[in-house]
Amino acid sequence: MTNPKTITKPETVCTRFSRLNLNPASVGDFIDWLCGMEPITSPIQARTRRDSIETLWGWNAPRQRIAKLLWQLVHDNLNDKFFHQNFSYGNPIRTHNTEAVLAPIQERMRWVLEGAFYRQSADRQIGQGNWGECWWLPEEQTNYVRKQLQDVAVNIVQQQSDYDEWLRFYLNALVSKDAKSIEIPCRDKDRTYVGVRNPLTSACVVNVLGHDGKEFHLRQCSRAYLEANGTGFEWGYGGGGPYLLAECLLTDALDGDFGFCDQQMIVEFRAEFVETNPRNEDFRISRLQILKWIQQRGVLDTWKERRSRVTIARRAVSSEVRGALNRLQHIKRAGGLQAQRFDLVPSTFEAALCLDLMQMLESSDYAMQCSRCKLPISHDGSLRSNHQRARAQRGQPVYHEECRLEQARVRKKLYWRRKTSSKEFRESEKQRARLNRT
Ligand SMILES: [Zn+2]
Repeated sequence: MTNPKTITKPETVCTRFSRLNLNPASVGDFIDWLCGMEPITSPIQARTRRDSIETLWGWNAPRQRIAKLLWQLVHDNLNDKFFHQNFSYGNPIRTHNTEAVLAPIQERMRWVLEGAFYRQSADRQIGQGNWGECWWLPEEQTNYVRKQLQDVAVNIVQQQSDYDEWLRFYLNALVSKDAKSIEIPCRDKDRTYVGVRNPLTSACVVNVLGHDGKEFHLRQCSRAYLEANGTGFEWGYGGGGPYLLAECLLTDALDGDFGFCDQQMIVEFRAEFVETNPRNEDFRISRLQILKWIQQRGVLDTWKERRSRVTIARRAVSSEVRGALNRLQHIKRAGGLQAQRFDLVPSTFEAALCLDLMQMLESSDYAMQCSRCKLPISHDGSLRSNHQRARAQRGQPVYHEECRLEQARVRKKLYWRRKTSSKEFRESEKQRARLNRT
């Protein structure tokens, strides 16, 4: 089980960018990271919370939108089509221009963050923040950020809704859970199944033919609400399309009960009737033939005994099924649904960085300054991060993990240099070496 306290947020974009090496490979990794596509290398990373907006909204989600703006900036092309034709995960950068384009932006971002750190440290003396007011940035940095934020617009973003797809999955779950049974389109006892191949496209359509001549598409049994009825079937060999046809024929012949036949039975039925029908000829079988085959296997009475139970189970969910189907009908008549979100939409990469900074400062995810490299460490919600924040608020030094290790290495080196410059120390070391030799 995951401890909720150890689930952390990804680093804020403005601080990560200000620490970024600007060569094409690192910028490419940064873009993958923004898209949530970087390879997982540590358990901490695996526990990082993935925002559901990022999963559902693609290039309209905040971080992926920044990735796209950055990609477009370094490739010097704002065309949407160009982006979609040339962008790929894993190796997104196709230019050597990254350093030249991004260095000035990175310098400005570092300058803004330094301004924020300056305000933080000044406020430790003054205590304005504790009193309840905020003063984030010095005058000049404020003017710069204010100007960048003019390239951010409040907007409604929208995309095609996933709700109707979810309804179809819901319908499918309803009929597959308890009843394992669907309503069939034609209940004539002596109905016939007819498969016809289109000679041009060679696609097959299989229909149920009633004795009054009425035709209906053969239903997809266990995926009745996910796949189109009447299609996806095949005959004349022993593959997946023929298996599906065998399964759906048995289901319809057994009045919609798709929980009765096991895999072995379906495979045997396919071998006997579906594989043997030549591929270039139409397919035809009657329901009575199918029932006779089931009777020969000695299980027809078992099926008859369970019929009433299956019918009751199917009826138990039938009003829910009808309700969901009605909703799907409404959606179809309405011409489909859209999903919308209110959003702050930056039009440049630099504006996106300032927007990210704004959101960081407004929340408690503010950055601390690393005492070694002077670059920001963003607060990620972990226990370690809370501990660091408390230290920073007391004015004590905090470090990036890699900077902490480097700091320890340097301290050790200094210690030994001081030691070796002392005469007594050198003498005692010589003594020790001599003793070791003898
Ligand atoms: Zn550092």
